[in-house]
Amino acid sequence: MERDGWGDFPRTGQSASSLPLFKHFLFLLRSHGGRVEFVKAKAHGDDVWNNRADSLANEGQVSGQPYDLWSLVTPDGWIDHEPVLAHQPLSYLTKLIVRDMVPAPLTCWKASPFCDRWVVSMARIFEVYLDVDTYVPLVWKINIPLGFKKTLWREMHQAQAIGHWYRGKHELMRTCPCGCELSLDHILMGCVRYNLSGLERVLHDRLREISPSVWHKSLHPDSWKPSPWYPLLALKRVEQNSVKPSKSLLKPNEAFSKSRSAREWVIGLYFWTLWKWRMAEANKPNFRFLPARQENNLREILAKEPQDN
Ligand SMILES: [Zn+2]
Repeated sequence: MERDGWGDFPRTGQSASSLPLFKHFLFLLRSHGGRVEFVKAKAHGDDVWNNRADSLANEGQVSGQPYDLWSLVTPDGWIDHEPVLAHQPLSYLTKLIVRDMVPAPLTCWKASPFCDRWVVSMARIFEVYLDVDTYVPLVWKINIPLGFKKTLWREMHQAQAIGHWYRGKHELMRTCPCGCELSLDHILMGCVRYNLSGLERVLHDRLREISPSVWHKSLHPDSWKPSPWYPLLALKRVEQNSVKPSKSLLKPNEAFSKSRSAREWVIGLYFWTLWKWRMAEANKPNFRFLPARQENNLREILAKEPQDN
């Protein structure tokens, strides 16, 4: 019963259960190092200890204050309360197996090329060294469309089904019309076949409406190239204390933090929309992605309020 976590113990309700009594017996047995012999005694016979137990039970019943078995104190360490295997709690063994057998997402070898690139890019763009372990999980907290979060997580772990990872029959999922191997970064940065300058202008116009009126790299995604979306993971960190108060901006931290969530949304939505248009071109026979014709469409998309994620 102890090995299985006392799971088979007959339960007759919390107050009437004799589980604590059995646990206490086991503690007494182990702590005294002695031998215990179980002898069946006939009820209401002449066994002195059985009669003593009877009289105590009667006393408790008459007094209206029976002894609560759950008040028996069994010191820690003498018995196991949870299921065990080879004297080790199963919860502990499970933790060991998970720790030793299942790699954490960021320690997986597939994530290490991205982690290296991210650290170098952030140092190059913002001249700060950031610990990638802290910021990569933030992808799930930043305010961007959920579909784009999943896309970025797959990208970090080389699990995006495009380029050489793609195993389907659509050639446009493997190779960009410019001849390059397809990748998320290639799509978001644009390429010679897709002139994104008009769409980038739409993005800038929208960002100008909601950003503080000061120049900072975090406010201009075109200055993030060739790592288009990497700073989204650490916008707060790179903006904090990076601008000095001035006549036009007395409290820069406050101004940045007020608009940060909205900016994340607009930039994330812009990238997500580009990605969806390119995927549509690869998968829908009648769709062609012509950036110049999508400018008004994008303006409307970016003007909408963020949706629930
Ligand atoms: Zn291309």
